[in-house]
Amino acid sequence: MTIYEALQQSAHDAGAKVVEDDALPDGTDGLVVCHGRRKTIIVRKGLSAAARKCILAHEIAHLSTGTGDMRAMSALAIVKQEQRAIALTIGSLLPAKRLASVLNVCNGNPQIAAEELGVTEDLVECAIKYYRRKGVWGIG
Ligand SMILES: [Zn+2]
Repeated sequence: MTIYEALQQSAHDAGAKVVEDDALPDGTDGLVVCHGRRKTIIVRKGLSAAARKCILAHEIAHLSTGTGDMRAMSALAIVKQEQRAIALTIGSLLPAKRLASVLNVCNGNPQIAAEELGVTEDLVECAIKYYRRKGVWGIG
């Protein structure tokens, strides 16, 4: 089972259907749509394998951070919910030890690390900042 297939399974286990579609707002590659208690995760069609994996993991994270109507939320609540989703995505795709060992082998190059780990370079850079900020890794 690929990581993407495993993610699809965990979305399913959380009660969400996963579809790929290109009918998403500009600048949005993934979205959770709720119809009553049923949820659908839409992942933009045509993304790279790395991007679709990161997007799906991120949207699955949103299933547990809450999928309420953002129009009814304060800006701060939206930012906090987004930060929680990013932290969960990093925890699921880039555990600190695994990322550290890959970065060690590729001299800290995030692009090579992303290729090796099958995720986007954006997520690797985000994870590096996250672990430093959390004090998981020393500065350097
Ligand atoms: Zn998000």
